[in-house]
Amino acid sequence: MTDTTSQPKNIQTIDVNGRRYQWPQRPVVGVCFDGCDPTYIAAASAAGVIPTIDRMRKQGFSQLALAAMPTFTNPNNVSIVCGVPPKIHGVSGNFYLDRDTGQDVMMVDATPMRAPTIFSTFSKEGAKVAVVTAKDKLRKALGKDLLGIAFSAEKAGEATEAENGIANVEELVGRKAPDQYSADLSLYVLDAGIRLLETVRPDISYLSLSDYVQHSHAPDAPEALQFMADVDQRFSCILALGATLGIVADHGMSDMADGDGAPRIIYLADRLEAEFGRGACRVICPITDPFVRHHGALGGFVRVHILKNGVSRDEVLAFVRSIDGVALALDREEACLTFQLPEDREGDIAVVSIKNVALGASLADHDLSQLSGARLRSHGGLTEQVVPFIVSIPIATSPAHTLRNFDLFAVLLNEAV
Ligand SMILES: [Zn+2]
Repeated sequence: MTDTTSQPKNIQTIDVNGRRYQWPQRPVVGVCFDGCDPTYIAAASAAGVIPTIDRMRKQGFSQLALAAMPTFTNPNNVSIVCGVPPKIHGVSGNFYLDRDTGQDVMMVDATPMRAPTIFSTFSKEGAKVAVVTAKDKLRKALGKDLLGIAFSAEKAGEATEAENGIANVEELVGRKAPDQYSADLSLYVLDAGIRLLETVRPDISYLSLSDYVQHSHAPDAPEALQFMADVDQRFSCILALGATLGIVADHGMSDMADGDGAPRIIYLADRLEAEFGRGACRVICPITDPFVRHHGALGGFVRVHILKNGVSRDEVLAFVRSIDGVALALDREEACLTFQLPEDREGDIAVVSIKNVALGASLADHDLSQLSGARLRSHGGLTEQVVPFIVSIPIATSPAHTLRNFDLFAVLLNEAV
């Protein structure tokens, strides 16, 4: 095995979305550890089950970073692969309300993306790139225009050369595609990444996990500790194969239930209807997606659209701010400036809840039976914005600015050398 990469003679750096990246001198692997709140690392470290991550933190680089807002999976994964915030790439949730047509527009595949990914740009210059995701919807976004390998654990059995740049993934990994509601979905992503390193040896790999375990289990739960140990063991394999490994999370995770285990939810659409009348406002929960069984489409961030003439934004803003459990309500312009969001996909008002409280639309919109009696654990707001940022080797210059999770590949390619 050799550490040389497929660097063309005449290319040293590549510019993507206004940022400059150096060609990797040895394989780099970026992992989006979905839902890995820093508390999961703290609990697993205290339990002594993550020796590899502990070693990386001690011998490499370890800081806390800020995720992109809202702290949902899609906006953050797209930010990480583009190296820029949602304002530039346009993906600010799972769907948005088009103000001109009144239609809901999905943002879960590649169509809403307005920026190229770091990977597609490198692949067009000849780099070997592999992207493995937990869910297939995300694979379509992250694999946009990629000349390389991109497949999901969910649809591993259906990967083809034409669509995914690779076939026979189940044979490569050595087992069937896992249940999409399982801890194994993430482990499968990592195992696939390891097998690719052993065979294709990509110059750049991106492995994006699922937060199924974190939605279901608190950091000190045996299931969470087992999962952390299983992931850590895969990280040791990646390092043993000579890659530089960088780990960030797309968001943290908060418990949103009360002492009796009942979810603490503000049904904002119901509250707005009671105050301003039926049909005056529409509440968009951009966490909603087809993969919702473990959180009931509830999170810490929603958008309000005002639909009725005569209802002013200022009075809705004032009312929302008066609701107990609301941390922040911003008008569109301020929300976009504060959180680097695209204005055309933002509501009239962006609302963020306090820690341990979820925001919903109306009671009828959310199927709490999806929780199957478990405590509601979710994300989306500011309290889930702080995430780990860990690299296996020291970095050249500590960033002067606040580190963002979407700096992952800038750090891996430019600093971890
Ligand atoms: Zn996530």
